[in-house]
Amino acid sequence: GATGHLGRLAVSSLLDRGVAPSDLVAVVRDAGKAADLAARGVQVRVADYGDPAALEAAFAGVDRLLFVSGSEAGRREVQHRNVVTAARAAGVQRIVYTSIANADTNSTPLAVEHRLTEQLLRDSGIDTVLLRNSWYVENYTAQLPQYRATGAIIGAAGEGRVAAATRADYAEAAAAALLADEPDAATYELGGPAFTMAELAAVLGEVTGTHLAYRDLPPADFRAGLLAAGLDEGTADFVLALELATAAGEL
Ligand code: NDP
Repeated sequence: GATGHLGRLAVSSLLDRGVAPSDLVAVVRDAGKAADLAARGVQVRVADYGDPAALEAAFAGVDRLLFVSGSEAGRREVQHRNVVTAARAAGVQRIVYTSIANADTNSTPLAVEHRLTEQLLRDSGIDTVLLRNSWYVENYTAQLPQYRATGAIIGAAGEGRVAAATRADYAEAAAAALLADEPDAATYELGGPAFTMAELAAVLGEVTGTHLAYRDLPPADFRAGLLAAGLDEGTADFVLALELATAAGEL
């Protein structure tokens, strides 16, 4: 995942912390996206999470692996099993995995594949650091244009608080977990100071000089709004589940 948002930040953090570029292997599925990393002297190897042989080859000589959870929800059980199996075959000694907040009890559909992956990692016998990342701040800031256009953040999260943090902060945690001296089979619940959606609206309104309010809808109305906006039923249910998990304080 070295060419993803989080992966790129983790690579930068490792370099900033003094890791030699030649000691870093960026495993990517599209070498073209990693040309800048190669130019900096980072070893670039190509492997798709769907390709066990390529993964094993890519992990040759790698002793510590940052395993960024894939972005293809629904396909990750197989993909993540491939990653863990290949890491084991290649002799990787430590895996740092980006999981989800409160993975054991998290009710969102996203958590299912993270729970399975955590179990695969436990069963692998490889020293594993689980970074249970809460939401990214960027999940919200990426929607700023829409918030500003409508003057509102619309949701069904009620008074639920989210311990969001920036991707850069999670990347720092990943780099620290990779570089820590002691093998550390630990689980970290990671996040920032928790805020409600109303507080988010107030802060974003203040810093952008726009009037922004949080408009909380009953779940059925929120779902109906998503359908009216053109989302299919499955996607609407998925988005609603994230709101309800937020309302319940799971994040
Ligand atoms: P990105 O989508 O930017 O990065 C995902 C990375 O995974 C990319 O590098 C992508 O490759 C790589 N990847 C996905 N599928 C495959 C595959 N089949 N084979 C090889 N590589 C693959 O996401 P972020 O960096 O923002 O977040 C990292 C992960 O965190 C996400 O993948 C997701 O699991 C999770 N997440 C967490 C959120 C949160 O709020 N905590 C929000 C959103 C996602 P490529 O660069 O080629 O696309």
